[in-house]
Amino acid sequence: MSPTQVVRGLDLLLTMDPTLGEGPLGRLEHAAVALDERGVCWIGSDDQAPTAPVVVQARGQIGLPLLVDSHTHSVWAGSRADEWERRLSGISYTEILEAGGGIRSTVRHTRQASLDELVELCTARLAPMVARGVGAMEIKSGYGLDAHTERTMLQAAGLAGQRVGMTVVRTFLGAHCVPSDCRDDPDGYVDDVVGPQLAACADVADFVDVYVDRGAFTVDQGRRVLQKGIAAGLRPRIHAEQVTYTGAARMAAELGAVSADHLEQIDEDGIAAMAKAGTIGVMLPGAQLYLNDPSPPVPMLREAGVRMAVATDLNPGSSPVDNLWTCATLACVRMGLSVEEALLGITAVGADVLARPDLGRLRVGSAGLVLARPRAGEPCVPGALLQHLGGPSVSVIRPG
Ligand SMILES: [Zn+2]
Repeated sequence: MSPTQVVRGLDLLLTMDPTLGEGPLGRLEHAAVALDERGVCWIGSDDQAPTAPVVVQARGQIGLPLLVDSHTHSVWAGSRADEWERRLSGISYTEILEAGGGIRSTVRHTRQASLDELVELCTARLAPMVARGVGAMEIKSGYGLDAHTERTMLQAAGLAGQRVGMTVVRTFLGAHCVPSDCRDDPDGYVDDVVGPQLAACADVADFVDVYVDRGAFTVDQGRRVLQKGIAAGLRPRIHAEQVTYTGAARMAAELGAVSADHLEQIDEDGIAAMAKAGTIGVMLPGAQLYLNDPSPPVPMLREAGVRMAVATDLNPGSSPVDNLWTCATLACVRMGLSVEEALLGITAVGADVLARPDLGRLRVGSAGLVLARPRAGEPCVPGALLQHLGGPSVSVIRPG
């Protein structure tokens, strides 16, 4: 170990790894972190910190691992600003979707965009998220709904991640919505998803996902998509129980899904199946807020031992929200997560949704760390990171 920089005097370090510090957040007080050219090379007490050519004084700040946003739709073209105004006048998201708007309008624009245009747009979306401390993100396809555009979206996601220095994990979501020209034959569209689309996308994706709900896909169609995706080497996850209850979360858990996301309408059966399978519940309070949906039954999820992640669900329609700190605050205020649960949800548990336990915890080998300064006058305690909507002011420490 020969450190190139050392962060000194942290009031509090939350490693998010209970083996490295106290409690579920792995707390260390008066801590220091050293980095070499590859990443974090030492973590410990400030009075034992190694020397390094560059010293960052971090008194009054809280150190955390780079954040993980475990559910986003960050690649798209076009705007849904008009639709948002229509929704404000009282038209529901499902009505807009059924009338050919919503996801379908974004599909039209995304199909017309080139790979370069999609990379540019996605890069511009990711840059402010990186600046707020996000180091890893899941990005889904699902605005192409044909083999070529679905693959192009996943390629764009990977290239945008490289441009901004973010770890991007990709999810094939050809079964996001039935495209307008297949509305009379949804099963025929599923044939296309599990046939040509999956064949085009399997080598550029890590996960397979499906949106099961009224106006989207049925549980049986969802099962077929996930089974075919698993057979192609992808790990399953699902959009489940958002607008209506379907039983999709239970089906996905029984297939070994890493996560079931949304869950506003989930019941006891679904929760039991998730707990048994170790399926993580992904809380998406941005969508809950924008759609004015009820809260998922967080006390029941907690009681059953279902772990919860928190993500932005960044997309142009139902969750135009790119601030993960804001989502963590909303998960506390609107859904009833504790500060501890919300902080783990945007770090360690989010990383587990991506099947990347090397992320979301601050350890030797981590690619960097976040320094968070609570709002003026607030102490260096975990709650001060989330109490104020919009999050703390953040700087990101990277090697070199
Ligand atoms: Zn989503």
